Amino acid sequence: MSTYKFGTKAIHSGVDPDPTTGAIMTPIYQTSTYVQEEIGSHKGYQYSRIQNPTRTALEKSLATVENGKYASCLGSGMAATDLVMRMLKPGDEVIAINGLYGGSYRIFKTVYEPLGIKFHFDPMVELDSIAQRINANTRLLWLETPTNPLLQIIDLQAICSLAKKHGIMVAVDNTFASPYLQNPLDLGADIVMHSVTKYLAGHSDVIMGALITNSEEIAEEIQRLRTTTGAVPGPQDCFLVLRGIKTLHLRMRQHCINAKAIAEYLNAHPKVEKVNWPGLPDHPNHEVAKKQMRDFGGMLSFSLVGDRMEDAKTILNNCKLFCLAESLGGVESLSSHPATMSHAALPKEERLKTGIVDSLIRLSVGVEDAEDLLKDLDNALSKI
Ligand SMILES: *Cc1c(COP(=O)(O)O)cnc(C)c1O
Repeated sequence: MSTYKFGTKAIHSGVDPDPTTGAIMTPIYQTSTYVQEEIGSHKGYQYSRIQNPTRTALEKSLATVENGKYASCLGSGMAATDLVMRMLKPGDEVIAINGLYGGSYRIFKTVYEPLGIKFHFDPMVELDSIAQRINANTRLLWLETPTNPLLQIIDLQAICSLAKKHGIMVAVDNTFASPYLQNPLDLGADIVMHSVTKYLAGHSDVIMGALITNSEEIAEEIQRLRTTTGAVPGPQDCFLVLRGIKTLHLRMRQHCINAKAIAEYLNAHPKVEKVNWPGLPDHPNHEVAKKQMRDFGGMLSFSLVGDRMEDAKTILNNCKLFCLAESLGGVESLSSHPATMSHAALPKEERLKTGIVDSLIRLSVGVEDAEDLLKDLDNALSKI
């Protein structure tokens, strides 16, 4: 499969005609257990916490699109992050990007820090600053790019090579980019984590996570931990994601085209203060984005002239196609207000310091017709 281009891989990998009937679609093996012919003789499947054929097909597909050898699906993105943390032991230290996904911050600070793991947060922009935080106990770098909700881009290749020099494992949360736009394993990462819930599933109907790696040792440890702790997704959800991945390339192309049209429109709008989208030539990390991503993605955020929370509310209330909701990456366009939603727990001063201003609006641009999306925003902006 590795010699094929992305769309071909997305459609064909992991999917073989079913051996019993020839069904072209992988069946939903809704079973907990498998009958063994005799003691010590089975067909590779014993119990669905350990393996399930629908899940195996999806894992092959995920490994292929992420240019990895091994993939493991988990019950949610957070279960995937949790599994990586379980590889650490008390006394170990982690350097994580600041401005990472709120749920990741929460699990680090409220679950793993009390267990004796130390977390440092760094913007991951200056290599010297990262290097200064490294010591003999540093085990893991936790990265995320583009970041949420400001769409900053960090240089994965440069950071991975620094980590390699010090023998530190690198995990990248690749949810925002999706494997269509960016493959961190190719840039030197050891583990790619996905909230499959988002672009990979793509239709806002599944919660799932995944970990992908090229290291046999890491893959075995993931498999051992998952079998032991049990956060596996069900076969029906695996089927839905297998189906979702078949159109990942088509969806992502349209997400990118639509986001570009909206970013350019907003960038020229007199009521808009600032647009954060890595595809804009004046984005501070545009060159890094061009180097490590195939396109610039469907996520963007923008702030308003005057920075009034009331104006942001007016816009969000007047959008008809952009639905106000957490989450992202589905075919339908969504809007959110980070200051009162995803980042409400941050003290106002902290929030403003990180650039999450009162009027900031985040959009997950869907695959509707761009003209309709532009009209929707234009109408909402006319109300302020
Ligand atoms: C949604 C999300 C997660 C968590 O995934 P769940 O599937 O909701 O558990 C982690 N990282 C990022 C970047 C996300 O957007």
